[in-house]
Amino acid sequence: MQNLNQCYMSLTVSKYTYFFESSKNKYLAYNSCSNSFLKLSKDLFNYIVECKITPGLIGNISDDVLKMLTDNKILVNENGDEKFVQELKFKTNMATYSQNNIGLTIAPTNECNFRCPYCFEENKKSVSMTDKTIDDLIAFIESHKNAKTMGITWYGGEPLLAFDNIKKILEKLKSLSVELKYHGIVTNGYYFTDEVIDFFNENNLYHIQITFDGNRERHNKLRRDKDTRQGSYDVILANADKILERMPKTFLSIRVNIDKTNSNDYIETAKYLKERWKDHKNFEVYPGILRIDNEDKTDIGGNAMKHDDIANFLLGLANESKIYYDSYYPEFSSKVCSATNINSYIIGAEGEIYKCWNDLTDPNKIIGYIDKNEFTNPGVFYDYVISCKWHEDNDCVKCFFLPTCHGGCAWYKCRNLKENGRYNLCEVFNDEECLRKCLEIYYDRKTEQKSKQI
Ligand code: SF4
Ligand code: SF4
Repeated sequence: MQNLNQCYMSLTVSKYTYFFESSKNKYLAYNSCSNSFLKLSKDLFNYIVECKITPGLIGNISDDVLKMLTDNKILVNENGDEKFVQELKFKTNMATYSQNNIGLTIAPTNECNFRCPYCFEENKKSVSMTDKTIDDLIAFIESHKNAKTMGITWYGGEPLLAFDNIKKILEKLKSLSVELKYHGIVTNGYYFTDEVIDFFNENNLYHIQITFDGNRERHNKLRRDKDTRQGSYDVILANADKILERMPKTFLSIRVNIDKTNSNDYIETAKYLKERWKDHKNFEVYPGILRIDNEDKTDIGGNAMKHDDIANFLLGLANESKIYYDSYYPEFSSKVCSATNINSYIIGAEGEIYKCWNDLTDPNKIIGYIDKNEFTNPGVFYDYVISCKWHEDNDCVKCFFLPTCHGGCAWYKCRNLKENGRYNLCEVFNDEECLRKCLEIYYDRKTEQKSKQI
């Protein structure tokens, strides 16, 4: 067997390794590929930092230390980083072209009982699926012969306004051989009645997402019944109580929408709900950071939080109110989303097909129809599936964050590529100071958890 020291010549410090001294004087090496830390002695730390500039020095490191460093990918073989990128591209392509699962986000109606200012359009036609569209949908699913499993998320409009359609579709799906593996709903929560709860308990609903538009006062101003103009907070909260009480196998995500003007609403609401539901484990409360476009729809504008605002906000949550949200770097993004996997679709109420949730009801983004066996707009499909991939973007290929970020949201990437967009898609922690801070929090949290386990 080759001695590790004999092949030191081919070792180099990975470009995915970040060295930093923590505020508690710990000398840490973090690797974004393995998502792991190594705590080093000060001398070893300084020595490896030196090796970055003079790789020849690696030969003086003892075998057992070399093994530890290579196991954690702090040191890699020559071309190791390039191989990582190749492998990631292969895995991304596998995920992109995988047809084992069919992922469907279905809008059984595009009607809604609210008229939230950022969503409501005065002239939008209210449409619900007809029986023919439902039959076409079943045939469309059946035509995906390679799919053994299926994921369904109900979306809208407000999907529960077309509860009968949901029931019909699920009933008809029972005759197909494809297994319903994931079942979720994005709802405003207003119509989550006892009947709905019973039904979804029988149909293995895995996940519910409900949104509050800030705290009670703000929510009631924005999310009002479109006819009576009554606020909806109390009804939704009471329904969420019932969901947690009666649906122990379903996970409830409460999203609290925030922008620059109301970020405290998240903390207030999270505190309140965590106390209210302290006997339940199957829920989370997370901040929905609103993306509000500027007037020419090329960049974030208005009251939307900018890149730095988001980073500071998340760091503040982790630092000051530790229990409220854990999403600071490193958070792994999926290699593909519905827009970039070829077997995932968003189905509109008229049977039109989109790739991204954000495109629903935009006629320019319809890629085809469930009753037609062809693309009507292949360009949109290829933009998402091919052009927006991280491996088509040199900045992403070279980026330290690539192993976790995978290139950012394809919808914004498309706007940058095709519509003169200037959206910043990058990890919010890509400023060095910020990265150091959040890695330190992440390290402390990890070691805290480990010591608890011991
Ligand atoms: S393109 Fe972006 S918004 Fe659309 S499904 Fe993918 S991640 Fe979500
Ligand atoms: S989107 Fe930005 S942070 Fe993400 S991989 Fe590309 S360059 Fe890096």
